[in-house]
Amino acid sequence: MSSPVWHPFTQHALQPEAIEIARGEGAWLERADGTRLLDCISSWWVITHGHCHPRIVSAIRDQAEKLDQVIFAGFTHRPAEELAQRLVARLEAKLGPKLAHVFFSDSGSTAVEVALKMALGYWRNLGEKRTRIIALEHAYHGDTIGTMSTGARGLFNAAYEPLLFDVTRLPFPAPGQEQRTLDALRAACDGAAALIVEPLLLGAGGMLTYGADVLREMQNICRNTQTLFIADEVMTGFGRTGTFTACEQAGVNPDIMCLAKGITGGSMPLAVTLASQAIFDAHYSTDRTKTFFHSSSYTANPIACAAAVANLNVWDEEPVLERLSALSALHTKHLAGFADDNRFSGLRQCGTIAALDLRVADEGYLAGIGPKLYAFFLARGLLIRPLGNTIYLMPPYCIGAGELAEAYDAISAAADEFGAR
Ligand SMILES: *Cc1c(COP(=O)(O)O)cnc(C)c1O
Repeated sequence: MSSPVWHPFTQHALQPEAIEIARGEGAWLERADGTRLLDCISSWWVITHGHCHPRIVSAIRDQAEKLDQVIFAGFTHRPAEELAQRLVARLEAKLGPKLAHVFFSDSGSTAVEVALKMALGYWRNLGEKRTRIIALEHAYHGDTIGTMSTGARGLFNAAYEPLLFDVTRLPFPAPGQEQRTLDALRAACDGAAALIVEPLLLGAGGMLTYGADVLREMQNICRNTQTLFIADEVMTGFGRTGTFTACEQAGVNPDIMCLAKGITGGSMPLAVTLASQAIFDAHYSTDRTKTFFHSSSYTANPIACAAAVANLNVWDEEPVLERLSALSALHTKHLAGFADDNRFSGLRQCGTIAALDLRVADEGYLAGIGPKLYAFFLARGLLIRPLGNTIYLMPPYCIGAGELAEAYDAISAAADEFGAR
């Protein structure tokens, strides 16, 4: 019997069978028949310390026995309070004081929607007409209408274009072209509500990296023009770029920060949008029309919050930063091995994430090569999901040196098989 399940980003006519996974442990996924797959993309960028980290699993079990869910308007609970306090304290230690309030939701997309609504609510409550959003070329901020509007336009959202709002688009600050981006930002800030950026690394847009200096300069321009600075750290947060957040590498402290994917170590859906005191204060009034009007049914689900607290315990008590630097160093070493391999271009790395482009005749996301590479890697027991001809590795931090070497060997073998000559 065929399955009634409709899978995300899946063309069912071309990919009729989904692979059933029964168990996960560390960097591995396991099918019911016991065959294993090495999870080189952290199950779509969410798993940080590894699948089924015992501490996180046990926190979920304990919380599920105590309180499953409670309305979060007018009510609160320990896991949410503890998580909010510890996130604020941790970010203050890394970035300095600013992000003082924590709003909960349940996915990266909702965290970004909340950020955009906070920015517009802020200006409206101050009585200023600043509603325009500024965003980067190649950006990705989610798949809901508002987040698609801020993200790059193209194949993925062509059908929904009539519903998307206009944003001011800045050219991507590719190395050597930063000035163009900064000039465009300076010209765009007048009257704008906010700039939203993925700090240091544009993920779904093709694993494109840019420098900490230009990130810092973007924030300076925003500060000088009172434009709110929104850091979408949904993917970069919780260690991916080698530090807890990407912002701390640039000495940037945003007005709003979105965190999701790694917040529970990848175990449960949860997201937060952190906001500055000024943004909270703009909504703080005995006038009820100034309320921040947003909620999801599962806002701050206690089990997800408990998983996130356990994740912070892992950060506090295990040598996570050491693991990040070890993994980063391994990537650097392996990438160096491809430096003279002209079957590849665009070798790049941002902390624990490495990417390179396989030279093929047809490039881009729909390039015929994408599905072929995916199948090639799967046949070798590796979950690697190229973005067109861009092959990237974003493994859980617990991946072993030998396991990572297998992934790089497979990339080299893929070039033997498919690379342009
Ligand atoms: C994945 C992602 C999102 C959307 O998160 P979801 O949890 O998939 O809704 C938003 N921003 C960035 C930068 C992302 O990588």
